[in-house]
Amino acid sequence: MTTQPQPNARITELRELLNKYSYEYHVLDAPTVSDAIYDSLFGELKQLEAEHPDLVTMDSPTQRVGNELKGGFAKVQHSSRMLSLNDVFDPHEVEAWVQRMDKLLPGTKHEFFADIKMDGLACALIYQDGIFTQAITRGDSFVGEDVTNNVRTITNVPLRLRSAKGYEQFLTGRTEIRGEIVMLKKDFAKLNAARKKAGEPEFANPRNLAAGTVRQLDPKLVAARPLHFRAYDLLRDDTAEIPTNMFAYETLTALGITRNREASVFTNLSDVMKFVDHVGEIRNDLPFNTDGLVIKVNDRALYRELGVVGKQPRAAVAYKYAAEQATTVVKDIVISIGRTGAATPVAVFDPVVVAGTTVQHASLHNADEIARLDVRIGDTVVIFKAGDIIPQVESVVTELRPKNAKKFDYEKALKEQYPELEFERQGNDVVYRVKGESGDLILRRSLEYYASKGALDIDTLGEKNVNALVDAGYVKDVADIYTLTADDLLKLDRFAEISANKLIDAIQSKKNPPLEKFILGLGIRHVGAQTAIDLANRFHSMDALKQATIEQLEEVDGIGKVVAESIVAWFADEDNLKLLDKFESLGVHPHFEKKSGKLAGKSFVITGTLETMGRDMAADRIRALGGTFQTSVAKDTTYLVTGGKVGGSKLKKAQEYGTEIIDEAKLLEILS
Ligand code: NAD
Repeated sequence: MTTQPQPNARITELRELLNKYSYEYHVLDAPTVSDAIYDSLFGELKQLEAEHPDLVTMDSPTQRVGNELKGGFAKVQHSSRMLSLNDVFDPHEVEAWVQRMDKLLPGTKHEFFADIKMDGLACALIYQDGIFTQAITRGDSFVGEDVTNNVRTITNVPLRLRSAKGYEQFLTGRTEIRGEIVMLKKDFAKLNAARKKAGEPEFANPRNLAAGTVRQLDPKLVAARPLHFRAYDLLRDDTAEIPTNMFAYETLTALGITRNREASVFTNLSDVMKFVDHVGEIRNDLPFNTDGLVIKVNDRALYRELGVVGKQPRAAVAYKYAAEQATTVVKDIVISIGRTGAATPVAVFDPVVVAGTTVQHASLHNADEIARLDVRIGDTVVIFKAGDIIPQVESVVTELRPKNAKKFDYEKALKEQYPELEFERQGNDVVYRVKGESGDLILRRSLEYYASKGALDIDTLGEKNVNALVDAGYVKDVADIYTLTADDLLKLDRFAEISANKLIDAIQSKKNPPLEKFILGLGIRHVGAQTAIDLANRFHSMDALKQATIEQLEEVDGIGKVVAESIVAWFADEDNLKLLDKFESLGVHPHFEKKSGKLAGKSFVITGTLETMGRDMAADRIRALGGTFQTSVAKDTTYLVTGGKVGGSKLKKAQEYGTEIIDEAKLLEILS
């Protein structure tokens, strides 16, 4: 069931919510959500608008900088718009940005300029004949607030520009310096420590404290809070006076204005990316908070020539470091039964990048956690992932809940998803478990299944031996069989020297099982022998299968939503991941054997109807020759076979991926 709203409804909801967040952030200086959450929802809106350009409106948050102004300060028109920057999140997006510029200015060699991005309040300082005359906040990019009196109290804002040899011209006429007003981390910590001591509530973060302080009507209060200014731009009426961004920075230093000393010029992108990595490593030690870097074209004439789209200059981007939070939509909640019989609910959602990796599911742990989060199918949720830690659902963005969002009925879901099993919740246990001697029962079944003929085919590891091993407490999970020794077995009545050695040899001889047998042996719900083969052929390794998205799984012929979700849920269960690690550490390495048939490594998609055979027969013949049969065109599809009327979307995808398009006659030739 899909509970996702229509794009236009979603766009409207996102806009309303982003406007609310933006108001809280820009006007009240009191955000209620993190920047990561804001950026993630903003990214979704941008994406939806790119897919539906007819739905873009002028008042969309994607088209506006900042927000309306707070009362109390005089409004001042900026000499030129104080723009925002386009965000990029990985090296590919940086490359794409450069390619876009190359298209507009073919044959131009760019020199790049990069600086650390400060997380503060953007402000323009106006110097007339070298004397500080006015400070204006960014405001809505066209008009800002006159905060001159407050900025005057910032100790590192010089009231008179320094005169320096070679830079005399900047002391005549109008010089505008743009930068960020921040509170340094050490000052913020000191201030909060004092408040704590005085029993006063602590401030939430330096950015909002700085922004709130600058926009205080009482300059005395401002002076009591240590603010700091760092410049990132210099403007003159005659643009020719400042040929490059690096020159602007050198001038800033000469004029006595603080700017980041790390800012540098790079002649190629790979050096820019090294700088990005370097700053990523040192960023926690910087005196101020940063969420990334600003990368610009160094030459200012080119910069101007490239112009502006919407509210962003084409010649600059903000590179944002991986955020530990992101938002996505819950598509389903599936239940995975672990080896102890515990039923773990798993939220399956649209793939989303969190802390640099793509995640598409997260354990919801138990019924209490679902109740605490009140997470429903169709909800937009915040996913959190710190460092290497497993992703978690942190909260629900209830404002974006669709009307038909389904409350999760745990017991009903258990019945629907596992009609053959009975579950119980004992005493205060928050977890539903398979009824009866749950843990053991599941373990015994899993072991038998793993050892069965169709799977690993471990000789003599049948029901009786499995029971003996479990009863003796020798195996607590399937991987434990690889730790057994003949001596262990000889302690049990069932075994004599020959039978003990036979079983141990049988187990040890199955340490390099074919991948498909191993996949089957894991007992993933809905994954039978043919599906296991198809999965092995498609993914070639356990690692790749572990990372597979629902969409990729559904591309495999015969795999639908239910099977795909079951696979994803299995890999979302921490117990299962630990089990896989244990297999690995015990030296169990499934291997994928490349098919040797003449179509090995080739994959086929058929669209339309073939005249000489049905699709099943075509699939069988392709597989018999070692090829793979897929239901939809993916990046790795070799051939799209067209029979009669051709599906437009498949054809489009094939063209996009460069898949070879062939007709039935050509297919027959290949199969002959
Ligand atoms: P942005 O974050 O893309 O930053 C662009 C700005 O960075 C520039 O305009 C400039 O003022 C500043 N900057 C800092 N260091 C710089 C440097 N070295 N060189 C050049 N420019 C530098 O865009 P934005 O429009 O300023 O603000 C959007 C930000 O506000 C986002 O990070 C967003 O998360 C946050 N926000 C948060 C909420 C919330 O509720 N948490 C709401 C609205 C906006």
